[in-house]
Amino acid sequence: DDVLRVEGLTKIYPDGTLAVDDIDFSIRRGDFCVIIGPSGCGKSTTLHSLVGKIAPTEGAVVLDDEDITGTPTYQRDIGLVFQDFQLFPHLSVEENITYGLERTNVPVDVVDERLENVLEMMQLHELRGRSPKALSAGQKQRVALARSLVLEPKLLLLDEPLGDMDYKLQKRMERELLRIHRELDTTFVYVTHDQTQAMRLADQIVVMNGGKVEHSGPVDEVYDRP
Ligand code: ADP
Ligand code: ADP
Repeated sequence: DDVLRVEGLTKIYPDGTLAVDDIDFSIRRGDFCVIIGPSGCGKSTTLHSLVGKIAPTEGAVVLDDEDITGTPTYQRDIGLVFQDFQLFPHLSVEENITYGLERTNVPVDVVDERLENVLEMMQLHELRGRSPKALSAGQKQRVALARSLVLEPKLLLLDEPLGDMDYKLQKRMERELLRIHRELDTTFVYVTHDQTQAMRLADQIVVMNGGKVEHSGPVDEVYDRP
């Protein structure tokens, strides 16, 4: 059962750069999928095509059997956690989390219920009134995740979210992500260039190189896991 299919996706930027070259892959529902490859191989271009920040030159993005290639970003049931989190500095933690949800037609009582749930899950209760400026990297990460999760997307994309953290914090956040993934019924798509991280996190892996997909499938078929 695949939640997402990418079919013949190609992106040529206006300056002529062929960033993604006719790639195909699919993502199983509920999996923790990792897209891995060296810098410049086309990971971000692929991710941004999935969320609709980039219009592909050719090919299709199919979510739950529906072609969403031309669907505006905000109408896609896909969440994105940015590398640098992009929290609103002038809003509190709580306001950051509910900002997107309050702009949907979800009723107020459901907004409150989801907010309380996600604060609990991400252990953010004590920080709810704080400004993002007063948070550590790990705390910001949790707010960024909470802000996406509260929208209950079919797919949550994470663009190297642990890139700027020191090793100890990174390991802790990995465990946190795995716990959240288990608790929720959501599919994660996690982009990284770090192979050891991929092996710790992935059920399924998509290996990219030079704008192509080299392998994709269950992690045990791609790497020998220790
Ligand atoms: P990755 O995320 O794996 O580092 P990217 O998708 O960012 O790879 O980039 C793939 C290729 O496309 C690289 O050669 C990069 O320089 C190029 N590229 C990315 N964005 C643009 C852009 N807006 N215009 C032109 N070339 C770009
Ligand atoms: P990432 O590795 O996450 O893709 P980059 O630092 O490569 O981040 O890119 C940051 C921004 O610059 C992106 O918006 C990307 O599209 C753009 N960019 C990257 N490479 C090029 C390029 N060769 N020409 C023009 N824009 C680029």
